[in-house]
Amino acid sequence: MKDFYKILGVAKNATEDDIKKAYRKLAHQFHPDKQGGNEAKFKEVSEAYQVLSNKEKRIMYDRFGRVDGAPGSSPFGAGGWPGFGDFNVEFGFGGEPGDFNDVFDAFFEGLGMRRRKTYQRGGDVEIIQEITLEEAFSGVKKVIKYDTSVNCRHCEGIGYDKKAGVAVCSACGGQGEIRESRRTFFGAFSQVKVCPDCLGSGEKPNKTCSYCSGSGRETGSRQVEIFIKSGIDDRQVITVKGAGEAGGRNSQPGDLYIVIKVKPHPVFERRGPDLLMKQSIGIAETFLGKKIKLNTLNGKLIEIEAPAGFNFKEKLRFGGLGMPKLEGGHGDLYIDFELRQPKKLSPKAKKLLEELDKEI
Ligand SMILES: [Zn+2]
Ligand SMILES: [Zn+2]
Repeated sequence: MKDFYKILGVAKNATEDDIKKAYRKLAHQFHPDKQGGNEAKFKEVSEAYQVLSNKEKRIMYDRFGRVDGAPGSSPFGAGGWPGFGDFNVEFGFGGEPGDFNDVFDAFFEGLGMRRRKTYQRGGDVEIIQEITLEEAFSGVKKVIKYDTSVNCRHCEGIGYDKKAGVAVCSACGGQGEIRESRRTFFGAFSQVKVCPDCLGSGEKPNKTCSYCSGSGRETGSRQVEIFIKSGIDDRQVITVKGAGEAGGRNSQPGDLYIVIKVKPHPVFERRGPDLLMKQSIGIAETFLGKKIKLNTLNGKLIEIEAPAGFNFKEKLRFGGLGMPKLEGGHGDLYIDFELRQPKKLSPKAKKLLEELDKEI
């Protein structure tokens, strides 16, 4: 596993600003166009920056040590996501960080490569999905509805009247690009820019869609169905690729980030994979080994008994009765006993206790 923090030479708790500064310095140093540059190092530094500069990816990386989202590497396991329809679901990698894109364009230009831009990519959408601890325990399917921009229904997202057709853009002669000189912190590059007139398509529609004024988008709502796997932790993020805002004129849509919020439970307290509960216990249960009935989080009724000589100041551990772990197995259940104390002792109870005291 690569240590992205080490690669950038920053501390684990580095601020966004620290990371940006460290990256700029190293990218400048290793840029392959520079004398003494090092392409492998440059790529490594760029990779580290791409992850650590993105809030979601950094959370993923800190938690799992990776963000690659390749099949089988997702902490939710491969193939465990029914009901996504056409969406390409992955864990972690969302959109490209804005500032980085710019640098990369310049970088590709420097290597003589071109990246032809089309219309604006749709924005990412972040929503919070609350679930109960029981749902986090058993896993749950959720249908999530949210308002976002969608493709214009009148022009199907293309932004113009299809029947009226298109003409060649006069500003770029149909190339979609215009060349201009540009300075970046890597030095000067002659850069190919997206034609501002046709936004890269090389075409100008004869009749703009009047409903969306040519943007190809309108406000609407979307819905996705996700399966939240058992053992999911609070604040984990599920990414649904392509389920964010519609892109301008049918270009790439943004992604949807679903931040899971696990509601506090009235009985069980979650501590990592373990569960903790408080249980009141009477004097007879304490000394006579009477069984105590209690419900576990998955609704099972179990009978427990404190072992002889158990120190009630400690917590009683039941192995495997805690939360499911994403990597398999379960945590433990800890029971914290509280002795039920009578508010007022009757003379009879007092006498009995005194006799008991003499016995033990
Ligand atoms: Zn043009
Ligand atoms: Zn339209």
